[in-house]
This record gives sequence, structure tokens and C-alpha cells, in this order.
Amino acid sequence: MSTIKAEEDLTTGGILEKFAAEKNIQFFLISFVDLLGVLRSKMVPASAIKKVANSGPGFAGYAVHFHMTTADPDVFAIPDPSSVIQLPWKKEVAWVASDLYVNGELLKQSPRQVLKDQIKKAADKGYTMKTGVECEFFLIKRDRAFASGIKAAEAYDTAPKPCYRQGSLFKQFDVIAKLVEYMEEMGWKPYQADHEDGKCQFEINWEYDDCLATADKHTFFKFMVKTIAEQYGLQATFMPKPFRSQTGNGCHCHVSLWTVDEPQAVNLFLDSTDEMGLSGLAYQFLAGILQNAKAFSALYNPSVNSYKRLDGQNTSSGSSWAPPSYISYSGNNRTHMVRIPDKGRYEVRRPDGATNPYLLQAALLASGLSGIKKELICPPRCDWNSEKSGPPEGMKLDSLPENLLDALREFEQSEDAKEALGTDFVNSYNEVQMQQWKSYSSFISAWELENTLDC
Ligand code: ADP
Ligand code: MG
Ligand code: MG
Ligand code: MG
Ligand code: MG
Repeated sequence: MSTIKAEEDLTTGGILEKFAAEKNIQFFLISFVDLLGVLRSKMVPASAIKKVANSGPGFAGYAVHFHMTTADPDVFAIPDPSSVIQLPWKKEVAWVASDLYVNGELLKQSPRQVLKDQIKKAADKGYTMKTGVECEFFLIKRDRAFASGIKAAEAYDTAPKPCYRQGSLFKQFDVIAKLVEYMEEMGWKPYQADHEDGKCQFEINWEYDDCLATADKHTFFKFMVKTIAEQYGLQATFMPKPFRSQTGNGCHCHVSLWTVDEPQAVNLFLDSTDEMGLSGLAYQFLAGILQNAKAFSALYNPSVNSYKRLDGQNTSSGSSWAPPSYISYSGNNRTHMVRIPDKGRYEVRRPDGATNPYLLQAALLASGLSGIKKELICPPRCDWNSEKSGPPEGMKLDSLPENLLDALREFEQSEDAKEALGTDFVNSYNEVQMQQWKSYSSFISAWELENTLDC
């Protein structure tokens, strides 16, 4: 006798309800990232997930960093079940990234949507971008409510060259080991962790993945690191340059382009016959990244503070490890905007810890696809030490914005950015970012008082 099986509910809510039952989940965090990279969510009990996930919890767009008004209709967040993660440190809670809708239409300024649009364009040409991010962070202690009162978590972490110091890593071993353990549990394949070049600065590396998965993981990584640090009485910061004389927090991104036919996908950037191990397609993609770097600095370096990390500003360790303010790429040389550390991939070093995880990937993919479409030719490689000297005589390199306002102006005026990312998105991003710039400009700083009081 055969039994009739109840039909499986394959709606978003049905899938999440099943996940809750299997994993004993009591709450879901239905999340999204706004234009300034802030992670927002609503907490939904598992008992309500089926209904709520299918319609999406509602949010007021004006209350977050979107270019919307208080009169605009609600934004609805429909979770993407492929991104769901059971929190390793709080097993009864699951986190899920979502896609945003207004009036039944996808919200064009949603960062995850902007990336998905680029992924679709790439897939139409038979490409998928795989990336790995290096999200550096400091562990700090806050003396007061504001950043002026911060200091590195470990007062004795004072070595002049702290990078890779085993003793300094070991002082925060419990926090870092916990993070690595959780990443293993989530299947991210972490493979190394170290003390970086700033006092109490760390980096944990995990294996590269499809760029949407990397962006979701990048978002979750920041949430996890901040949360676990708090459990140890610390604060984690990804701020690009929290300390004037220390190396800043970069967010290098390693990039390669593959065919879409998983699991047999082929790395289209790999060509072992080339001196650097890169294919013609890889150089066209790279030329696109270089050509759009000016405008896309607004996405790689989206905060006022971002620009204090760049351009070789002195640090106590001897290097800032951040690229100069001109557009260049190099072989295995860490002093240029792009480095080729290995065959079949390169590393874009300009982005920092404030970059929006989705817009970082969207900017790289959009630039690269434009380079391929226009069959751009890569300029010559730059092999000098940019911390010691500029380009050789007679060589003129285009310069990059040195503050947020210049970057936003480049972005706003870039026809390529509008074509690739949509005019709607470019305008919305600029409007929201100009508010940040205006808020900053109206602030009277200690530097101004020191230098202008007696004018
Ligand atoms: P480094 O400090 O030398 O810049 P890391 O080891 O810290 O490099 O980070 C390298 C990142 O590049 C990792 O996330 C790794 O998985 C990723 N990666 C390695 N190969 C590729 C590839 N072919 N495409 C994209 N990312 C890659
Ligand atoms: Mg309400
Ligand atoms: Mg690294
Ligand atoms: Mg690093
Ligand atoms: Mg790196």
C-alpha cells in the first residue's frame, strides 16, 4: 500500500519553516544592507515565518539609508533561503539576507539587487565572478561613548612591527579561535588568521566563492566579528583608519572570472603561457577596473574616513599597506592599486573596511564587464615601489579622488557608472552620501580649532 506524501511547500516561507523545524530555530533575522552598508533586520518568530517570509516584513525606507521620504510606501524584505545561516553562537536564531520590493517591484537602489543585476549580465555572457575578501579589523576598547576615546584592546600590544607577531596574536587567541571555529562550522573553509600590522589588528581568511555568496558572507562576517568581540568585552571596528599612526583597515578583494557550468567551471582568467598567468580576458577585465576606479572610489571608499587610509600616509610600522592615489597595477608588489599575487586572479587593494559588501562586488563586476565589452587594452604594468617613488619621468598616471566629495562628484558624473548600475541607483547613492558629506563638513573639528582659532 502506498502512502500519499504531503506536497512540499516550496514557497520562501515554506522552505524557511522547514529549516526552522529541522534546526530547532525559534527566530529569524530577516536582514538587508542599506546604501551606507548598515545591516538592518526584523526579528520574526519561527511560528510566523511561513506567512511573513512570503509577503516580507515591511520597513520604512526613510528610516534607513535609502533615498526615500517619509511619505514613500513600505519596503518589503523577501528573504533568500539560499543565504540562510544558523548562528553558530546562538543556535535558536537564523540569519537570512533578503531582496527588497516596493509596490511589488524590485527596489532598484537595494545594494543586493544592484549586484544581482550585474551577476545576471555576466551570466548572460556565460561568466560568473568568484571573489575572496580580506576584511581587516581592530579589536578596541572604548573609554567613552565616542571614537575619540578608543584604544587598542591590548595595552601591551606595543611592538613597533606587530605584523604576524605570535605573542600579539595569542593575547586575543580566544576571540580569534572562536571566530575561526564558527566559520568552519558554517562551511566557509577558513584557512588562516593573523595579527596584522596595526596594534590589535587582525585578519581571518576564508575560501573564495561566487560573488553573491562572498557578499552575503562579508555582511555576516562583520556582524559575527562585532558580536563575538562584545562577548569578550571588546569592540571590533572595520573603520578604514581609526588610528592616525597605525595601518588602516583594508578590504582587499581577489577576483577571477569563471564559466557558469558548476561544478566543472573553468577559470577564464588563467593562462599559464602568460608571464603573470593571466588571460587576455583577465587583462580586459582589469582594464575595466582601472578605467572605472575614479568613479567607483565612491563605492570602494565610501566614508569620509576612507581617504585617510590611502596614499601612503606614514605609520609607526613603516608602511600603510594602502595603495597610492593613482591608477596602477603591478605583479606581486603590494604598493599599487591592483596586485597580481598568483596565476589566474588579481587583488584589488583600494577598497576598505567601510565598503558596502554588495556594492564592492557590483563595482568590480560592472567595471570588468565594461572592460570586456569595450575590449579595453591594459596599460603597462608598474613595478616600482610606490611608497618610495612616483611613476618614472614622462609617465603620466591618472589620479584617484583624495576625499569623499571628489569621489562622489566623479561617481555622479560617470556615464559608465550610470549605464552599468542604472541612473536611479547612482542618483540615490549620491543623494544619501551627500548628506554624510554635509554632516561632516558642518562639524567643527579639533584640527580646525588648533589651526584656526588664532587666525
Ligand atoms: P593576501 O594577504 O596575500 O592578499 P589572503 O590569503 O589574505 O591574501 O587572501 C586571499 C583571498 O583570495 C582568499 O579569500 C582566497 O580564497 C582568495 N582567492 C584565491 N584564489 C582565488 C581566485 N582564483 N579567485 C578569487 N579569489 C581567490
Ligand atoms: Mg510600526
Ligand atoms: Mg591577507
Ligand atoms: Mg591584510
Ligand atoms: Mg591582500
